[in-house]
Formats: sequence, C-alpha cells, structure tokens
Amino acid sequence: MEKTADIVIVGGGIIGASIAYHLVQKGAKGIVLLEKGMLGEGSTGKCAGGIRAQFSTEINIRFSLESLKTWNNFEEITGVDLGFKRAGYLFLATTEAEWSIFRENSALQHQFGIHVELLSPKEINYRWPYLKVDDLTGGTFCSLDGYAGPYEALSGFVKGARQGGVKIYEGTEVLEIYQKNGKISSVRTAKGDISSPIVVNAAGPYAEEVGKMAGVEVPVQPYRRQLFFTAPFPWIPDPIPLVIDFHRAWYFRREGAGLLISGPKDNLPSFNVNVDFAAMVEVAENSIYRVPIMEKAEINSGWAGSYEISPDNHAILGEVPGVEGFFLANGFSGHGFQHSPAVGRVMAELIIEEKPSIDISCLSIDRFRKGQLIREPLTAFKE
Ligand SMILES: Cc1cc2nc3c(=O)[nH]c(=O)nc-3n(C[C@H](O)[C@H](O)[C@H](O)COP(=O)(O)OP(=O)(O)OC[C@H]3O[C@@H](n4cnc5c(N)ncnc54)[C@H](O)[C@@H]3O)c2cc1C
Repeated sequence: MEKTADIVIVGGGIIGASIAYHLVQKGAKGIVLLEKGMLGEGSTGKCAGGIRAQFSTEINIRFSLESLKTWNNFEEITGVDLGFKRAGYLFLATTEAEWSIFRENSALQHQFGIHVELLSPKEINYRWPYLKVDDLTGGTFCSLDGYAGPYEALSGFVKGARQGGVKIYEGTEVLEIYQKNGKISSVRTAKGDISSPIVVNAAGPYAEEVGKMAGVEVPVQPYRRQLFFTAPFPWIPDPIPLVIDFHRAWYFRREGAGLLISGPKDNLPSFNVNVDFAAMVEVAENSIYRVPIMEKAEINSGWAGSYEISPDNHAILGEVPGVEGFFLANGFSGHGFQHSPAVGRVMAELIIEEKPSIDISCLSIDRFRKGQLIREPLTAFKE
C-alpha cells in the first residue's frame, strides 16, 4: 500500500466513491480510498434507491436537480446501466396540516421549475385505484422522481475512479487520524500508515467515530430502518410510483416482480441492523391499510441498514474550521444515495480549491455551534 497520498478518502460507500470519481474528473491525482469491509457494504448496500426532486428545502432541491443530470445520463457517463425507473413519487397527506405543508413545498418546488402535481383524493383514486383514499387530504406527484440501483451507481463511480488512477483498498480500516499544528498529516491503518495532507470523512453511519479520530465531534447518529420484500405480486398494474404514506412513515414500490415495502425506523440510535418479526407485522398492517389488495402479498425477505442522521436532517459538508485538510461528507439523513452525484462534485471542487458549483456554506459543521440549524416545515421524510 502507498506510504503517501495527496488525498485519503475514508469509506467506500456511494459518497466516498462519488467524491473519488469527481476528483479524477477534475484531474486530481494521488487519491487513496480506504474501506474497512467491502465496497458498498454500509448504508449504500441497504438503500432503497429512491431518487426524487420533491424536497422541502432549497439546498436539497438544488442537490436533487444537479444529481438528476448525472442519473439521467449515467450510462453514457460511466458505461454502467443504472436501471433508473422513472415511476414517480406519490406523497400522501392524511391531515390538513400535512396537506398545507405539501402545498407550501410544491410552491417551492415550482419555483425551481419542477412539475409537481397537487392531487385530490378523488384524482388519486382515479389514477391509482388500489390505494385507500377515504382518509386522505391530498397528495403530490412528480414524474421526474423514481428509483435506481445503488450497487450499479456505486460500480459506475468506482469504475471511473479506478480508471482515473484512484487506489482502492478494501478490508483496510482507518484506526487513527493524525494532525500537526492544526493540519492533517497522516492516517493509521492495520496495514500501515499513509501520510496525506487531506483526509475526507465519508464513513456514513460511522462518521462520528472517524471524526473523533481527528479530534472533531461530528454530530451524526446511526438509526436502523428495516425494509421488506414480497414474492411476485401481479395484482397491481405497472407502473407503480414510489408511494409514501407520510403520516405512517411507510412506503412501497415495485421491486422486480414483487414489492419493496418499508418497515419502521428506530427512534433510538444504534448500530443494530437485525430484522425483527414485530417490524414485519407492523409493515404488513400498514401495507394492508393503505393498499388493501396487499393482503395477498407474501413477505419473503427483509434487511435493515443504518441511516446517518444529523441534528437537522441535512448533510454536513466541507472542511472543518481549525483542522486544515479534514473534510466532512456526512449526515445525509436518508438521502445520501440520490444526492451523491452533486455531493461528489461539490466536495471535489472544495478539495481542489475551486468555487463549489452549489453554495454549500449552510451545510458547514459550524452551523451547530452557531445554532444555525436548517429548518424544515415537516420532519424530513426518509426513504
Ligand atoms: C434502509 C435504507 C433505505 C435507504 N433508502 C434511500 C433511498 O431510497 N434514497 C436515498 O437517497 N438514500 C437512501 N438511504 C440512505 C443512503 O443509503 C445513505 O445516505 C448513503 O448510502 C450514505 O452513503 P455513504 O457512502 O455516506 O455511507 P456508507 O454506504 O455507509 O459508506 C460508508 C463506508 O465507510 C466504511 N467505514 C466506516 N468506518 C471506516 C473506517 N474507520 N475505515 C475505513 N472504512 C470505514 C463503512 O464500512 C462503509 O462502507 C437509505 C438508507 C437505508 C438504511
């Protein structure tokens, strides 16, 4: 393994890979990416692949629009078919308060030129008759949205990064990060030390742990989310949008011939990624409530992964003030897959000291110290 590098990236999920890919697109050299397990084995491999423009803050909408440019042309750009299904996202509101906030969100989305339809329960029933609508106050639908393959996306970025000369080491855990006089100097791994003036924390749910190695408190906590999968389910016609019952924090979409259904998100942080029987019962009840025909569904597998949640459900990006060369790309709070192209690009720009193409100053870690958290009208929905 190299003894020196210009840039060390810690974490081989979609974020670390996208940063590496975008760095080589900008001509950067001497990049080493270190992954403690296998590429994609963290949150990226557990992700539902959702991609949407329907966000409620400007910064997330900007990330979505920038990322869509990459997702829409991924095969031409990387040579890998992303399997992007543009089935749309349908958000359902069941209270007047939710519906009023959905309308506000759509007004913001319209300002960005995003075509979001505001639908009455009757219209929802007409277009998707398998949904229970009698308790709904309304819904929003955007046909730009959809879902894609996280592993395909990861392999596209990894392929481009390797072609650009990035050295990628799996099974290589970063154990320590050293600094001298407020400047990053090296990392320690079980396979040896690498001196480098720049280290990027792209450790997903382990962001806090990696931050501590450099003496930096990164406020990111892991929260389990369980997902379940059904046997082939032919009773609903395609295309099925990714349907979100906001109130129940439940969603489903097509997955192959079956369905992917979201289980609960834990209320307490932990690294637990087991699947619970109780969660499967809950997901079955939510499913049959919103889509009565799903009483015919047979759940045949499930998995769980960790969201990497920040205090305001927004990413933490940029160089840490006072620790020269220590960059954070953390806290994506359930949206890291879909925003990875834009994040990779702005991080690469920051690292090579170009002006970022999206102003990300509001995402600095300093916002927590200054009490400048980003406010959202409703707690952010997490896929
Ligand atoms: C169930 C579920 C569904 C989701 N659905 C969606 C969705 O539909 N759309 C969406 O946009 N997002 C979704 N997400 C969120 C998304 O998966 C994450 O935001 C994204 O994958 C984060 O990528 P990452 O590269 O930051 O983290 P990870 O993929 O976790 O990668 C971090 C890597 O760092 C490695 N690492 C950690 N510590 C060290 C160390 N000390 N040394 C070396 N390597 C280290 C880990 O092994 C890991 O591979 C979902 C998440 C979950 C759990």
